[in-house]
Amino acid sequence: MNGGWTLRAPCRGQAGFTVRENEWKTGADIKRLCGAQLATCGPCPFRAVCIATVKPAQALFDGIAGGRLWCNGVVIAALDDVCDEELAEPKLRASCGTEAGAKDHVRHGERPCPSCRQAAREMTARRKEAKAKEPKQLQLDFATT
Ligand code: SF4
Ligand SMILES: [Zn+2]
Repeated sequence: MNGGWTLRAPCRGQAGFTVRENEWKTGADIKRLCGAQLATCGPCPFRAVCIATVKPAQALFDGIAGGRLWCNGVVIAALDDVCDEELAEPKLRASCGTEAGAKDHVRHGERPCPSCRQAAREMTARRKEAKAKEPKQLQLDFATT
């Protein structure tokens, strides 16, 4: 990482934020090797610039950047308080405005664009509605008196 901000980052001088190619096979290995360090990003004010510098999605990065744990450039774990604004600006694609478009943004490590955000909201609402319409399982009370 470059820039004066790295000198003030909580992870400065700490190991365990990335893995070597021969150290892991699955996301579970990356979680095992780096997961404990994720909390270091908690108070870090540089999450957005960290992500903008590492470019995890483009670099197929494995390890910790910006309060997220990445495997092959995809987020596999994150701190509870991460927000989309810390991610890269979205690129607009033909898929925008659909669930597939929202997934494309995730795949590229970007925040969703407004139309994909709306599509994702609508999809969640439709799923909730469909779930509410599912027949409820009969709850039998076998309690004896
Ligand atoms: S977000 Fe995490 S990895 Fe990035 S500079 Fe801050 S502490 Fe280091
Ligand atoms: Zn979009």
